[in-house]
Amino acid sequence: MMNSQFDGRLGRRDLLRLLGAGGVAAGTGLMLPKQGQAATQIAGKGAKIVIAGAGAAGLSMASRLAQRLDGATITIIDGRKAHYYQPGFTLVAGGIKSKDYVTSTTAEYLPKSVSWIEEAVAEFDPEGNKVVTASGKAVPYDYLVVATGMKLDYAAIEGMDMNRIGQDGLGSIYASPDAAHATWGAMSKFVEAGGVGLFGRPNTEMKCAGAPLKYTFITEDRLRRAGNRGKAEIVYAANNKALFSVPIVAEKVRMLFKDRGVKTHYDHVQTGIDLGRKVAIYNTPNGPTEIKYDFINVIPPMRAPDAVRNSSLRWQEGGFAADGWMEVDKATLRHKRFANVFGVGDIAGVPKGKTAASVKWQVPVAADHLVADIAGTKSDAVYNGYTSCPLITQLGRAMLVEFDYNNDLVPSFPGVVAPLEELWITWVMKTMALKPTYLTMLRGQA
Ligand SMILES: Cc1cc2nc3c(=O)[nH]c(=O)nc-3n(C[C@H](O)[C@H](O)[C@H](O)COP(=O)(O)OP(=O)(O)OC[C@H]3O[C@@H](n4cnc5c(N)ncnc54)[C@H](O)[C@@H]3O)c2cc1C
Repeated sequence: MMNSQFDGRLGRRDLLRLLGAGGVAAGTGLMLPKQGQAATQIAGKGAKIVIAGAGAAGLSMASRLAQRLDGATITIIDGRKAHYYQPGFTLVAGGIKSKDYVTSTTAEYLPKSVSWIEEAVAEFDPEGNKVVTASGKAVPYDYLVVATGMKLDYAAIEGMDMNRIGQDGLGSIYASPDAAHATWGAMSKFVEAGGVGLFGRPNTEMKCAGAPLKYTFITEDRLRRAGNRGKAEIVYAANNKALFSVPIVAEKVRMLFKDRGVKTHYDHVQTGIDLGRKVAIYNTPNGPTEIKYDFINVIPPMRAPDAVRNSSLRWQEGGFAADGWMEVDKATLRHKRFANVFGVGDIAGVPKGKTAASVKWQVPVAADHLVADIAGTKSDAVYNGYTSCPLITQLGRAMLVEFDYNNDLVPSFPGVVAPLEELWITWVMKTMALKPTYLTMLRGQA
């Protein structure tokens, strides 16, 4: 299991080396060298730029454009005042970090020169080069960056009641910091009492596809450490025939699940839950089926927010159309039909991504193309699909999973941080180094 070569001593030395080089936490994708940044500002020529969404991608884009353009009008639109560091939700739900660790405010990261309209975009009108806010205010633009993230479609799980997260064995780590914290409470009780722990993932695109797996491993390890592993059965219901979209990673997880005694079902798509009977309901190739649980982590289907899904920005056909993901070019993040529109972060309808680490690589590319348009030049910046997830496999160990559009593993520090090895150094990246660098990314400096 553990790689003794990287266990303890060598891992620490490597970490110090990386820290010395200013490049720790490669696997987060957030700590790699800066890219796509111009050394000097260019004239913004009074361009009106609207950014919809002030999460990881929107704030990072606002900071970069504010740094690079002199004299542009940049407006960001988002009704949410809190900022959530979502990669920390798994740690909160695992009892590793407190709720405060993941909560701050949007205002902290917003450059002074950027105006903020504190409401949601209700309508996108790319034909008319404007968006309309929830209160009906029309905001015209020369360039639009859509960074609205995604919608967690809990309503699609029949019988689900978000108010009951934390009670009667119901967990759900994705919904909010409160939900993650309440899930930790429910998981702790399960660790004491034992029974069946039920895990899985939705059958849609999702952010951080490693998180459902991480949480399964963390719960299993918590049981083991409490001396109660023998009192519990851990079940993972996969939505299709694989545990992860990258075959080599899927196989590694399959082996680890076997080693840890995690029972796996395939082709199980959750459609409902009976909170009273503590039963999850699935569609399978053999028809509907039920699995009983004592503790469950519900992860709902994920789709584009309604405002994007109901607009002409969405894919018109193909696999990304039904859930409303934005029709962008996968290399440049530029809209395929509206050249003055870009989509970055989770909303982008591209084959990989949907991690904060992907945001780190997408935003400089899209920003570079947008700035080049204003300057009347061309950019050759390309996003290669870089996606990364430090996959916790037990407390104190994580596996670095970094890949691109081709499913090729793209290790950031080959020879130091081995991909697909359970390493202490990767655990340190995930639990200590990722957040400061994420915040630096929001400020346009990583
Ligand atoms: C449990 C969990 C674990 C994760 N683990 C990792 C990890 O280990 N590593 C990693 O790299 N990534 C991880 N991620 C994924 C990462 O957090 C996301 O990929 C990242 O936040 C995407 O950034 P975004 O800006 O696209 O979306 P978000 O950061 O979600 O921001 C979207 C913003 O858009 C706003 N918005 C929505 N609709 C509208 C509208 N109509 N008008 C205006 N604004 C709107 C929202 O209010 C929000 O502020 C994890 C996520 C979760 C939930």
